[in-house]
Amino acid sequence: MKQVYLDYSATTPVKKEVLEEMIPFFSENFGNPSSAYTIGYKSRGAVDLARQRVASLVGAKEKEIFFTSSGTEANNWAIFGVCDAMKDKGNHIITTKIEHPAVLNHCEFLEKRGYKVTYLDVQKDGIVDPKALEDAITKDVILISIMLINNEIGTIQPLKELCQIAKKHNILFHTDAVQALGNIPLDVKELGIDLMSISAHKIYGPKGVGALYIKDGVKISNFMHGGSQEHAKRAGTENLTGIVGFGKAAEIAKEHLMEHIDRLTELRDYFIDRVMLKIPNVALNGHRSLRHPGNANLRFDYIEGESMLLFLDVKGISVSTGSACASEETTPSHVLTALQIPIEQIHSSVRFTLGDFTTMEDLDYTIEELAVIVEKLRQISPISK
Ligand SMILES: *Cc1c(COP(=O)(O)O)cnc(C)c1O
Repeated sequence: MKQVYLDYSATTPVKKEVLEEMIPFFSENFGNPSSAYTIGYKSRGAVDLARQRVASLVGAKEKEIFFTSSGTEANNWAIFGVCDAMKDKGNHIITTKIEHPAVLNHCEFLEKRGYKVTYLDVQKDGIVDPKALEDAITKDVILISIMLINNEIGTIQPLKELCQIAKKHNILFHTDAVQALGNIPLDVKELGIDLMSISAHKIYGPKGVGALYIKDGVKISNFMHGGSQEHAKRAGTENLTGIVGFGKAAEIAKEHLMEHIDRLTELRDYFIDRVMLKIPNVALNGHRSLRHPGNANLRFDYIEGESMLLFLDVKGISVSTGSACASEETTPSHVLTALQIPIEQIHSSVRFTLGDFTTMEDLDYTIEELAVIVEKLRQISPISK
């Protein structure tokens, strides 16, 4: 049966060139990067090269990139590290209602320990109103954390403007850029970011490796304590193969960035337009154009997204409702809830995310199957007229 993977925002396959570059570092070049002999130096060199490649993709200096075990760890470290380092200055964090759980749940953890957290509302298209940020600032705010691209609805925030507000008030700004990396031009200096989380497995690299960008001069406390790896800022023997893979994936992403964006945008727009043309009562969640080039989050009136997911799976098509990290939960998506979408429409939403191996034929097949499934489900739906 045909297999169509349309869940690239959950994870991506490791590209062949990435895997090839990783393989020697499992057993041949297995040295500990901290060891003071030749095979150790080889590993050290490989980590340095990867750091250079990742830094280059985001416009950072090499010494500003710190490898972690995931995007999740980078988010936790950024928030914890700033709050701990700045505890004498204040105890107030500003974030949004649509962040990834790795940000939201860490903020809740800190709330239980005496921190004050403001969760900003977003507008109906998922965009944060810069004025709402400005209005939420108090003298106790030590950190603003707002994601660059949302993982469910793909909305791109006006980050430069939001960063400028933070700077005006002398507040550190962190962004979760996991979905943005390799999917839009991303330059930390241009945007004015202080801290940024990224992850390898969303850009055709391996799972279990991420990084935190920490602007030169920004002081944050350590999160992992132990050896003096990563300039004594993140302890633990480096995930050598993972870091090598991340570096190669970053190099490929940089080389093909514009071509990747143009191709995905074209496929995404084709998909959205065709689905809406062929199927009545479909709407798009999130902003139409300020959007991840591969994201189509659609709601199909009178249908349960979960049923749709299962019927599509039977046809070999992989999609998601909400995000992968929340699919075990039955609570409605916190992101769609923040957009003030009525609850039955939240349950009728499905996220399709396209990537480098998606073809026009994949989309045509998906649209055809979708039309059949929607019709079938609407016939049996008690709420459809
Ligand atoms: C996937 C994702 C994460 C988590 O990254 P991991 O490396 O899987 O821990 C964080 N934020 C966003 C927006 C994501 O899409």
